[in-house]
Amino acid sequence: MEKYKIDKIFKLLSKEIPHPKTELKYINQYTFLISVVLSAQSTDVSVNKATKNIFKIAKNPKEMVDLGEKNLKKFIKTIGLYNSKAKNIILLSIELIKKYNSKIPKEFDKLISLPGVGNKTASVYQNAILKLPRIAVDTHVFRVSNRLGIVKTKTADQTQLQLEKIIPKKWRKDTHHLLILHGRRVCKSQNPSCDECSLNKLCSYNLVNNN
Ligand code: SF4
Repeated sequence: MEKYKIDKIFKLLSKEIPHPKTELKYINQYTFLISVVLSAQSTDVSVNKATKNIFKIAKNPKEMVDLGEKNLKKFIKTIGLYNSKAKNIILLSIELIKKYNSKIPKEFDKLISLPGVGNKTASVYQNAILKLPRIAVDTHVFRVSNRLGIVKTKTADQTQLQLEKIIPKKWRKDTHHLLILHGRRVCKSQNPSCDECSLNKLCSYNLVNNN
């Protein structure tokens, strides 16, 4: 897609969503990382519902280890993959205590070496907390960027590589949240609201399917 069109898309998106930020609720860097780990293949709404109670008693690595895997599972039973997530959160917390003095490392390599933290989680963390121009790709970012025609990709990793290459620097910091929020509110997986979408004149999917 031509650069001027990408620029136009992000200008329109920023107008529509002036304060793009995560919908996950958190109280510090540690609780944000835990929320992102829990959010894999789950909705932010279900994660927020569970973490509201967890973070009252476990808002740092030590308190989480004290809570323990068995008790943590009771809080996250409604969240997908809760068994492995509970196990990873306890292991991750132990590692933070042992290796990083209970702080979250900033470096990408160190982040992805933590149990339960993959490329997407580390990128989301670096983008939302450290304000780095990382473009984490979830199902919404993948769908919206392909429908618009900004990229033509088959996997999340390909999409991240292409987006981080093609999106102008000034939009990169907000790209992840702008595309997610547009995907949740307008460009839904089933029945996207193309008629009401501010991007419809620039969108490949709309030009092919609705004209
Ligand atoms: S025009 Fe339709 S497919 Fe394109 S971004 Fe908007 S809602 Fe999504």
